[in-house]
Amino acid sequence: MQYDNLMKKCIELAKQGQGQVSPNPLVGCVVLDADGQEISTGFHEKYGSNHAERSALLDIEAPGGTLVVNLEPCCHHGKTPPCTDLIIEKKIARVVVGMPDRKNGGAHKLREAGIEVIEGVLEQECRQLNEIFIKNQSGKTFIAIKTATTIDGKIATANGSSKWITGKAAREHGRKIRARYDAILTSSATVLADDPQMLHKTKIILDRNSKLTGQEQIFKQGEVHVFKEFEPEKLFEMGIMSVLVEAGGRLSGEILPFADRIYHFMAPKITGDNSAKSCFDFRKITDINESLNFKIESVEHFGSDLLLTYTL
Ligand code: ZN
Repeated sequence: MQYDNLMKKCIELAKQGQGQVSPNPLVGCVVLDADGQEISTGFHEKYGSNHAERSALLDIEAPGGTLVVNLEPCCHHGKTPPCTDLIIEKKIARVVVGMPDRKNGGAHKLREAGIEVIEGVLEQECRQLNEIFIKNQSGKTFIAIKTATTIDGKIATANGSSKWITGKAAREHGRKIRARYDAILTSSATVLADDPQMLHKTKIILDRNSKLTGQEQIFKQGEVHVFKEFEPEKLFEMGIMSVLVEAGGRLSGEILPFADRIYHFMAPKITGDNSAKSCFDFRKITDINESLNFKIESVEHFGSDLLLTYTL
């Protein structure tokens, strides 16, 4: 309880690195002096830059102080020297950690140096912050799907009319979500139907029957990879740690069983048309009990629209 608010601050600091640090984790850090006064903060800004602890500690002296950080400090040489060494050198007395780093012995090393280590503060929130990093530790890419529908789950009319289902605030938040991911994935069907730009540094298009010419808007910006098959494991080999799927019902449906998270924007509209296109359209079932079951994580409002976030 005592360190909850400071850990929340670490999480907010860490989020400033979203979209920049991959494949590293998101980390934020707060340092208190021996009297418990906050004297410094830091976060991991981008891949290759200082770790949060280093950026918070470099220009200060804090003997007897407390360092709060959402992830166990590293004790190995990577792109930068180990954070544990600097924490010991700066004579920090107490380190408060949100979640452990699986392949690490940082907490052990700090304790050996006589530093008090408190672990597991807001661990669940810290794990959620670094869900991509955690998934990557098992050698897999984090896969999310984003869709925007009417209340009756439609993304377009039967003839493809789809702009715009949700309002400005929802679309703006959608762009923020996109920026957190290493790559976006769409289908040739979506590209041919809407000719979207889909601004992003890395884009993957599933084009099974080579329907694209390469002249479409999506090719005009960023790095574009065209796949014939969707192979989740191949993404990880390519160094893509997280991918956001933005496609029609067929591809979104096909990827649904692999998805770690679904962002579902819903506008207060009803098409009332059974022939309109659904957000997930990949099979026929006869028994309602064959439906896939999800757990809703959060419900947020953006203007007059909702964002439902859910997982399998
Ligand atoms: Zn470190």
